[in-house]
Amino acid sequence: YKYKEGLSKTRKSFSEKINDLVARYRKVDEDFFEDLEEVLIAADVGVSTVMDLIDELKMEVKRRNISDSQEVKSVISEKLVDIYYGEDEEDAAVGLNMQENDLTVILFVGVNGVGKTTTIGKLAHQLKSEGKKVMLTAGDTFRAGAIEQLSEWGKRVDVEVIKHSEGSDPAAVIYDGIRAAKSRQADVLLCDTAGRLQNKVNLMNELSKVKRVIEREIPNAPHEVLLVLDATTGQNALSQAKTFSEATNVSGIVLTKLDGTAKGGIVLAIRNELGIPVKLVGLGEKVTDLQNFDPQAFVYGLFA
Ligand code: GDP
Repeated sequence: YKYKEGLSKTRKSFSEKINDLVARYRKVDEDFFEDLEEVLIAADVGVSTVMDLIDELKMEVKRRNISDSQEVKSVISEKLVDIYYGEDEEDAAVGLNMQENDLTVILFVGVNGVGKTTTIGKLAHQLKSEGKKVMLTAGDTFRAGAIEQLSEWGKRVDVEVIKHSEGSDPAAVIYDGIRAAKSRQADVLLCDTAGRLQNKVNLMNELSKVKRVIEREIPNAPHEVLLVLDATTGQNALSQAKTFSEATNVSGIVLTKLDGTAKGGIVLAIRNELGIPVKLVGLGEKVTDLQNFDPQAFVYGLFA
């Protein structure tokens, strides 16, 4: 239901175009595939992903001996789900890597404005409503107002925020966050970080220092490094993902503002081109508008 609502812009343009295509072509031929290619590229599925998808579709259509364009619609949705999973289904596993009876540390990375703070607030709310004790750490000590903004979210969803003053060392704040989370026996610690991308070397140094501090306190942590990307920025999101995965080990993507774009196909491009699973999606501005990413529900949302 959330997917259906949140994807309404993408669905509108995507399924209208697909229906139009199916109506125009009664038979599935080379021209049909060419036009389909255009529809998929327009939805930001990404050129190389589209090529893979079209190849798969052609093979499947041949294998099943499908000639009717109406029939090919269901094959398209099947293949969209398949392309998300790729060859390594395990690796595409949805859901966050949560520790059973221990503190789970999740590090959030991403450039300013993508929805990082909002996502942390939403996730804190979601985990809290599952009965978990959640704490936040204001590791973005660089951007003016970032600490205040996270504190506001802390108040709003009623979770404690560990913070230092602006300009202080992010690794030191996160160290304090871990110490506090351990002593309060929290279940989850969500850590914000600065989102400057201007200098990759700085970014890399800052993130690796933060990770070192976390690892020293808790082996195997951080349990997730989530890169937050804004779906409305399309292919730009893809290039941000490339930069961040060069700077640090990104374990999952949070794709925000899917409700604000007609180009939701970017989910598939990210997964297919970078091999990083999309773990969470933002489908609106409300605190409850963060959802675990579910490829089936997503594709269903595109066609429903
Ligand atoms: P940050 O700079 O990365 O921390 O970004 P913010 O969390 O401040 O978010 C920037 C803007 O994006 C805010 O106005 C949010 O309400 C908005 N936003 C975040 N996630 C979503 C989403 O999933 N859908 C929509 N429509 N807006 C979102």
